[in-house]
Formats: sequence, structure tokens, C-alpha cells
Amino acid sequence: MIPLKVILLGPPGAGKGTQAARLSDALGIPRVSSGDLFRDHQRRNTEMGQLARSYMGRGVLVPDDVTIRMVMDWIDREAGSGGFLLDGFPRTEAQAATLDAAMEESGGIDKAIYIKVSKDELVTRLSDRLVCTDCQMPHSGRDPDTAGSCTRCGGKLYQREDDKPEAVEKRIQVYMEETAPLVEHYREAGILEEVEGERSVEEVGRDLTALISLT
Ligand code: AMP
Repeated sequence: MIPLKVILLGPPGAGKGTQAARLSDALGIPRVSSGDLFRDHQRRNTEMGQLARSYMGRGVLVPDDVTIRMVMDWIDREAGSGGFLLDGFPRTEAQAATLDAAMEESGGIDKAIYIKVSKDELVTRLSDRLVCTDCQMPHSGRDPDTAGSCTRCGGKLYQREDDKPEAVEKRIQVYMEETAPLVEHYREAGILEEVEGERSVEEVGRDLTALISLT
């Protein structure tokens, strides 16, 4: 396992989930999506799932204390002192500061990779996106290979409640206000890399693999 600590940054619909799944499969790095963790809690109807639902349904962020505890627990449990790929975390300055402090002893985060996609493209992608019920891998509703099933694990595809048009605009606005400033945070830390996201999954994936392999 490669002991690299990598963050995938970018707006909702940039391709972070798709690329994280591919990179994790190809390089054997454990990955986590904070959104997937919340959706898992919702499915199991835990207290955290019920709390998260009220925020996620509106397209706004779940409060920092809850989110930080959940993701830091995952890192302690699943990644230990090894590497990980984070998709969707951190999303606020407070989350980034907590993560930076927690990773300081083990050499810090190695890379934050920002996947850039224009707003028009995000709206198109999100309204068209279907997600696997089992492994949560995102798919394009226009992909002729899917026929309603996940191309990775065969699970059933569904449309996320927050990919419906009412929530999409709000999620993009929340991203611009709360998460976009993290691009500068990691640029200043000297670990930011940028990748043009408006290309095929394979092309973006090739660039990401090259960046991670160079680390
Ligand atoms: P995602 O699957 O990454 O698009 O996340 C879906 C929703 O989960 C977001 O719109 C938020 O409501 C919540 N969420 C996911 N990650 C975070 C985070 N790091 N901080 C706060 N809320 C989050």
C-alpha cells in the first residue's frame, strides 16, 4: 500500500468520487467520501444519519463538529499510519485546520488535487448523474454501458435526492462560499496540484495517477 495522504478538491460533480474509486482500485490506497459515510448512516438510520439528512436534503453542509469526528474516526480506523484518499473532506477552513493538525506528526498531507470544472458543466453532470446503491460509484445517466446497473459492482443505480435541480444550485453556491477558499489554503501550503476536469474519465484519471505516482 502506498502511504500517501491525498485530498481530492473540487465542486460537486467535478468527478472526485469517480476518480477516487478508480485510484483506490488501481493503487490500493484506502479512500473515503464523507458524503458516502453520511449516506451509509442514513441507510442504517443512525442518529448521525438522521441529523445529516436534514442538512443534506437542503444542499447545505453538515456541521463541522459532527463531520470532523466522523471522518477523523474513519482515518484512525481504516488508514492508521498509512495513506488515504479523501473525497469531499475537508470542505471548510475548520475541517482543513483540524486535518492539518492531526496529520502534522506523520509528515502532513502530501497533495491536494483540485479538479477544475465550469459551473455549466457541473449542472449538466449532476442533473444527469446516477449513483450505485451498493458501492456509491457515480455514473452518467447517458452512459450506454450501464443499463441501470453499476459498471463497477453490478449494483442498482439511483438518483440522489440532492442531485435534483432544487438542491444542485444551492450545493454549488455553498461550495463557492465555503469550500473554494481551500484551494488557496493548499496552494499556500505548497501542496496544491490542478487538473483540468472537463475531459474524459480516462484522461483525468491518467493525470491524477501521474501526479500521485510522482509524489
Ligand atoms: P457529496 O456526496 O460529497 O456530494 O456530499 C453530499 C452532502 O453531504 C453535502 O452536500 C453535505 O450536506 C454533506 N457533506 C459531505 N461532506 C461534507 C463535509 N466535509 N462537510 C460538511 N458536509 C458534508
